[in-house]
This record gives sequence, structure tokens and C-alpha cells, in this order.
Amino acid sequence: MAIPFFKEIRIGGYLMKQKLLGRKRYPLVLMLEPLFRCNLACVGCGKIDYPDAILNRRMTAQECWDAADECGAPMVAIPGGEPLIHKEIGEIVRGLVARKKFVSLCTNALLLEKKLDLFEPSPYLFFSVHLDGLKDHHDKAVSQKGVFDRAVSAIKAAKARGFTVNVNATIFDGHPAEEIAKFLDFTTELGVGVSMSPGYAYERAPDQEHFLNRTKTKKLFRDVFALGKGKKWNFMHSGLFLDFLAGNQSYECTPWGMPARNIFGWQKPCYLLGEGYAKTFKELMETTDWDSYGTGKYEKCANCMAHCGYEPTAATAALSNPLKAMWVALRGIKTTGPMAPEIDLSKQRPAQYIFSEQVQKKLSEIRRDEALAAQQKAAAAAQKASTAA
Ligand code: SF4
Ligand code: SF4
Repeated sequence: MAIPFFKEIRIGGYLMKQKLLGRKRYPLVLMLEPLFRCNLACVGCGKIDYPDAILNRRMTAQECWDAADECGAPMVAIPGGEPLIHKEIGEIVRGLVARKKFVSLCTNALLLEKKLDLFEPSPYLFFSVHLDGLKDHHDKAVSQKGVFDRAVSAIKAAKARGFTVNVNATIFDGHPAEEIAKFLDFTTELGVGVSMSPGYAYERAPDQEHFLNRTKTKKLFRDVFALGKGKKWNFMHSGLFLDFLAGNQSYECTPWGMPARNIFGWQKPCYLLGEGYAKTFKELMETTDWDSYGTGKYEKCANCMAHCGYEPTAATAALSNPLKAMWVALRGIKTTGPMAPEIDLSKQRPAQYIFSEQVQKKLSEIRRDEALAAQQKAAAAAQKASTAA
């Protein structure tokens, strides 16, 4: 799922503090995936292709809060899987809000109306509902009819109860600019903010045909923004990130800007790419070979323009060059003329495929934990029996 971003949060002070402290790498948003289980199976999803033993695993509420404390980012996005399936989701969100974290709960909204009572409206909480386009397009993207209508109904119900709601759209190849523009008009009528990101080419996604490459992404976003001139679409992105999508900025990604924590641990190097795991956030920051990732450095990064890698770059760029950010905000996104130079891909290192190895390792851990729990249970029962005798 794409995640909404900075517009709603007062992140400038945090960024400034990191800069003053001279920190080179720091997180802006914790991507917390408390489970991978989902009640949909979208064709572009690269998050749910695991055996049941892994899909049944959950992070506990305490593990979620510990991750937020350990990482220290001012915002926590909770994607998944589908977080509303997690039995402790209400408690997890309450604990994060109590820590004054801005929480973006990302959901496909199938369970949202039913579960609204678990949450309380707060300036620290917003729902980010997965909508990839208008009705026919979205229902096709999520491989199930009726999901768009249920999501829209849930959005209206949540808004009526005083919750802030945004939508997040993942954009794939073959989605015409005119349709995306109509979808953005629809979100304006609905009164919700939008985050949009080109889909990352997940190696485990069922549909490998429709991921956009960088050239197509830039062209498509230019066409969309050209159609939006004079309209008041409410994007949840910084102006510089949108300018980057339209090909006007040459940015390198900031993979540590939105670190991911899930049932495997802290994911290396980023939310999109699982190339190994660290036990602690500190270990993630200190042991990841950051220079070996990013477009032009690693084959799996070749076409990535996703917001979780590049929005932190845009945020840092805005801090270093506020005049440029202001200029883009005033002038709007440039949709014609030459684009910024593209990154050279000729020296990128080849992809490594370690997914199966990681899954096997996790399955062995799960089996070991289960055997240990069974032993402890048997020992406790034997102890109880001998005490009773
Ligand atoms: S709703 Fe999100 S997590 Fe679930 S299958 Fe679709 S993209 Fe994946
Ligand atoms: S380009 Fe950066 S953000 Fe994108 S997958 Fe690679 S490391 Fe992650």
C-alpha cells in the first residue's frame, strides 16, 4: 500500500533538530507492519506472499510501541497486510497516540465501518484508505467487485464520526492520465486528501506486467498534473516530491527515512525491499550497507520512484533549499520542457534473491518457538499434577 505523507504533520521542527544535531541519517516515518495477513489479494501487492505460519504471526502491542520508541520517528504509518484484522489494533493505535505519534492507519476499508468504535478521533490519527482509482479500476486492482463502494461508504462513515481520512493510490502502467484526473476530482468531492505513488516492482507480486518504469512514470505524472492546472487537488505530499514525479528533480532515495519493522525484525534497507533483517533499529542503522542501494546502484531499485524512498529526500531538500520549495509551490509543477537528468543504470549491481531463504529461516524460528512453548506447557502441567498429588 502507498502511505499518505507529510502535509498534515508538523515535521519541520523535527527535521531542523536532526540537522542541528548533525545527524546524517534519521527516520521520519516508522512503517510498522504488525501482520502480513490481508483480506484482499491485490495483483500488484508484494506483501502477502507468505506461507500461513508467517501470515498468522502478529507483532504484539508491546512490540509495536517498543518499535516506535526505539526508532523515534514523529510519525508511524501502519500498513500490512490489513491492520484492522489485528485483534489489538485499537490498543496499538491508542498507545501510539498517547506517545504523541502521528498515526496513519492504512486500510483497504473492508472492515473500517465495523471497527470504527475501536478508535477515537484525534489530531494524531488519520485513516489512509487504499483506493487505486475510480470504481471499475479499483475493483480490478484489488481483484474483487464491490470493494470501491464499501471503501467509499466507510470513508463517509468515518468522516461523519469526526475522523480525518485520506486515500492512498498506487499507480500502475495502463492507467490513463484522464482517468487518474477524474479520480482526483472525485477525491476532492469526497473531501479527502490523496497520496499517490507509482507501484514499486515487487518481485513477489502476482502481476509483473504493469509496473511503471521511471520514464513512463514521469510522463504519466506530467500528463496528470497538466490536467490538474487550476484545480484544487489536495495532495498529501510535499511539492518537491510531486515535482520529482514529474521529472523535474534528480533525487537519490533516502531508504532510512521510512524504516520498516515487521514480524521478521527491522527490514533492510527499506519498506519496499527485504534484503535481510536487523534485531534492533540501532543495528539496522549501523549495519546496513546503505551505499549499495538506490537507483543506479542496485538492479531491484532501477525503476523505484516510490514516496517512501523519495519523500524523505524531498523533505530534506526543502529544508536545505526553502526558496526552491517555495518556487515550486507558487509556480506549480512544470509539465513541459526538458526533464532533469536521469540516473545512469550501467553500473548497478545485479539483484540478489534471498526471499525463500528468509522465509525458511523464519519458519524454523516459528517451529522452534512452538516446540519450546509446548515443552513449557507440558512441564507446567506436570508440575501442577505433582503438586496436586
Ligand atoms: S489491500 Fe494492501 S496489503 Fe492487502 S493485498 Fe491489497 S495491497 Fe496487499
Ligand atoms: S530505490 Fe531506495 S527506496 Fe526504492 S527500493 Fe531501492 S532502496 Fe528502497
